[in-house]
Amino acid sequence: MVVFDTALERVLQCSANLGLLLPFTARQALQTTPAKLLGSKLLAGLWRELRQPHGPIGIEVMRRNVHGHSARLQACAYRSGARIIVELDPVLSSDGKRLLSNLNAWLGRLASAVDEATLLQLLTRGVRSLIGYDRALVYEFGDDGSGTVIAEDAATGVRRLLGHRFSARDLPTRLASKQLRDTTYAVPDVGAPAVPLLPPTPAGQRPTDLSHSPLRAVSPTYARYLGDLGARASLSVALRDEYGIRALLACHARAPGPLPHAWREAVRALTEMAAQRWFLLRARADAQYLQRVQDSRDLLSHGRGELREPEAIVRHHGDDWLALFRADGLALVDGSSLVTAGRTPPAAILANIAGWLHEHAPAQGFWAGNSRNQGPLAAETEVEGCAGLLAAALPIDPQAPGWLLMFRQELRPSIRRGGPAATAGQPAAIWYEQPFGQSEPWLPIEQRAARGLAEDLAVAAAAHRISVLNVYLAEERQRLAELNRRLERQAHTDPLTGVWNRYRIEQALDAEVAAGERYGRPCTVLIFDVDHFKRINDTYGHSIGDGVLAGLAAILRETLRPSDYFGRWGGEEFIAVLSHTSLADGLGVAERLRARLAGILFIHGEHVTTSIGAATWRPGDDRRSLLDRADRALYRAKRGGRNRVCPEGNNIPRFPEDL
Ligand code: GH3
Ligand code: MG
Ligand code: MG
Repeated sequence: MVVFDTALERVLQCSANLGLLLPFTARQALQTTPAKLLGSKLLAGLWRELRQPHGPIGIEVMRRNVHGHSARLQACAYRSGARIIVELDPVLSSDGKRLLSNLNAWLGRLASAVDEATLLQLLTRGVRSLIGYDRALVYEFGDDGSGTVIAEDAATGVRRLLGHRFSARDLPTRLASKQLRDTTYAVPDVGAPAVPLLPPTPAGQRPTDLSHSPLRAVSPTYARYLGDLGARASLSVALRDEYGIRALLACHARAPGPLPHAWREAVRALTEMAAQRWFLLRARADAQYLQRVQDSRDLLSHGRGELREPEAIVRHHGDDWLALFRADGLALVDGSSLVTAGRTPPAAILANIAGWLHEHAPAQGFWAGNSRNQGPLAAETEVEGCAGLLAAALPIDPQAPGWLLMFRQELRPSIRRGGPAATAGQPAAIWYEQPFGQSEPWLPIEQRAARGLAEDLAVAAAAHRISVLNVYLAEERQRLAELNRRLERQAHTDPLTGVWNRYRIEQALDAEVAAGERYGRPCTVLIFDVDHFKRINDTYGHSIGDGVLAGLAAILRETLRPSDYFGRWGGEEFIAVLSHTSLADGLGVAERLRARLAGILFIHGEHVTTSIGAATWRPGDDRRSLLDRADRALYRAKRGGRNRVCPEGNNIPRFPEDL
């Protein structure tokens, strides 16, 4: 490494081992000019490259005669503060043709991968086939900076890391940092001693910033990290999209393995191609996932028109949702009602969780965590192995919101404690700490989908509540109507005979009188009085008398037309109001009734006869005057010998034989 001033006119510093690559010792290099050190042609080339606005790094290859034989060197220049740094790398002999055809073959395979898992698996296999390291893996970074190994290809006998999750503090800062600027970083030999820059930076002055140098020495944390993984050499390439680094390809070798520049470039090309395709596949998978959630939501809202209670909905769709959200358990806590699917903590804990959420997350109506020690789970002791919780409020009633809760079980750490004994407080101790009490994190897309689902559940729950209320109201209304009907029956019915009572028949009579006034419509009133009823009571007892009255009323009612009004006037007296009926017609009806009653044997072979008085409405009549005339006619019927019909007026009583 050689450090120049920004004008490329002076050599400021150089590596102590410069003499391995150039025919200059470090001391000589510091006393010569840049043009003499690197050759004016190379220097001009680097200068041109550095002036390119987009390319901070210029790369040139040169030949130099060192120690009697010709060596090919690769020079790489970049700016760092008020310095220009040039790094020299020996170009190792590599079979460029074979590398290119191998790279092309793997690019072709990557292009045919149609799912994320296959794609990343191909990437790790391809990279190993290109550079021959012992292990290649892809870490995906979570929002919290933790990394999960999502693809791996390794030689036999190499410890597998697939599925292992490194918590953020387990990873060297450089790896977890999303601001990683350099996309590739090679460590040919983690055990190689660091080579100092000469002359050393004087105390108090800022040292040259080498943080983006591919040839910088390995930091102690990173060296320990690689050591723990059994790696002596490593190459890592970032997979980045427009938002930053999403994942990292890491290759490890158990022995030191310097990589020719062309090989590193091949790995970078393969990884970048894979990253692009990966993000496309993921976007497509996300879209498909949202569509599946949407389909499930559509089923909910249409539900083939039937309104189902949330409990029934969860019972019906619960298993689908568990699969869709990769959850182990699901609960719908809504007021006092609770319904669950899969593995969830006990009901009392679920109620506590809902309480915690209501208190701590009321505004957002949402909570997601994947650690046993976070949020509502941290406050509980018996959570049945749950470490992940996704909670979305059902925004029905802001005062008492329901919650859709989804649970994930705790992940089993895949790496055991091991390696060199570490003392507490040292970085190695942190490295060996396992991610206990954690679950698979909830993907942003899953969080988004859960909120949508909770909204739909809220709508379904609200619709169901309204329908329940409507059913209840309808039932209440029906009950009330029935009560009213009963009350009306009671108010209008004579309890002994079941026919209208006096009050109701008076109403009917008033209506008929009014109709007569208005339309001149005739109506005839018949008053019935049982003959010698006292004797029936006296002979057979009052209750037999009651039975006679009831039977009599029933016969009269069924013999009359439905349009006629009939009721009990009191005691053993009944009244019929025949609408649209003249006196002559009314007398005909009355006689038919009388004859029918007289022909019936009521008790012990005894006939019960009835006397009937008849009167017809005439203009100027009110209820009272009409009844009065009918009453007087009845009186005459009695006087005339009973068991007969007598019309109003001065007409002589009619005997049955005369009619
Ligand atoms: P008539 O009408 O032919 O002159 O003789 P009657 O014996 O029927 O005389 P009246 O009409 O004066 O008496 C009616 C009797 O009917 C008096 C009462 O004891 C009886 N009665 C009234 N209401 C009831 C009732 O609800 N049940 C029974 N069993 N008897 C009743
Ligand atoms: Mg009487
Ligand atoms: Mg009587």
